[in-house]
Amino acid sequence: MKEPLFLKGVFKEKIWGGSKLQSQFNYTIPSSKTGELWAISAHKNGPSTILNGEYQGSTLDELWQSNPELFGEPDEAVFPLLTKIIDAEDDLSVQVHPDDSYGLEKEGELGKTECWYILAADEGSEIVYGHHAQTTEELEEMITQGEWDKLLRRIPVKAGDFFYVPSGTIHAIGSGIMILETQQSSDTTYRVYDYDRIQDDGSERELHIIDSLAVTTVPHKDPALNLKTDQTDSCTHTLLVENPFFKVDEWTINGNVDFTASSPYSLYSIVAGEGKLVIESDEYNCKKGDHFILPATVNEWTLKGNLHLIASQPGKVNQ
Ligand code: ZN
Repeated sequence: MKEPLFLKGVFKEKIWGGSKLQSQFNYTIPSSKTGELWAISAHKNGPSTILNGEYQGSTLDELWQSNPELFGEPDEAVFPLLTKIIDAEDDLSVQVHPDDSYGLEKEGELGKTECWYILAADEGSEIVYGHHAQTTEELEEMITQGEWDKLLRRIPVKAGDFFYVPSGTIHAIGSGIMILETQQSSDTTYRVYDYDRIQDDGSERELHIIDSLAVTTVPHKDPALNLKTDQTDSCTHTLLVENPFFKVDEWTINGNVDFTASSPYSLYSIVAGEGKLVIESDEYNCKKGDHFILPATVNEWTLKGNLHLIASQPGKVNQ
């Protein structure tokens, strides 16, 4: 069947979460502390469910196992990508993720390289991106002494900014920011600092200093971003990042745009507007807040209307 897979995601309540997933995206959220929507996920901690068609009711991880032809008969044991929308009402913890070799060895799952498309940012909001330590000894010293202002590199952000966050990068999303995150399918986070916050039960969240020191890239180095934008009458396209883990593209469509598959499958998240997805003679309405996968059975499609999308596809490790 040449059908898209529209997906229903899983919400995650967080100490730092808010209610913008409802007010901005019209989702029904579990509480006013909702931090994340795992929109396109096959991770065991929150798999998405197929909403339409032949596979309605299956979860994405089930489909990955049962119908590999939909994903181009992949070699990987697990669906490699995870798309989230994050609402940071408060600051997220300062954290770092391992690479694949450390993650697989220590945690039994992939490492996490991620990237952020900033959907909205309050005036004055900032992220933590990288650090100022020059050596691992200096990093350890500043963490032990709690010299956070000296250690952490803060960057002001605005809607439309994009950040590539390779594993080993110390980072934190600041309060007042909403992002669409594309990442490796992993849930391993090493917390460096949590602002000494107290949870409802009176405890502080666990920190992981030894693992953090082991995986942090020192000194920090900004990855080279090479954003490429091209424009036609009906669309603006920007290649945001391409690496062994994922390729991420931004599309702003006003009119009709025809696509031909450049990957076994691709993931789409509509972050603004509405329109239609057309596959042969079938039309599917789509709007802000919808997420879908185009499987390997769909080679050509058209998107029409006024749509702002973030698309991703698996990286090409052997390229
Ligand atoms: Zn992270």
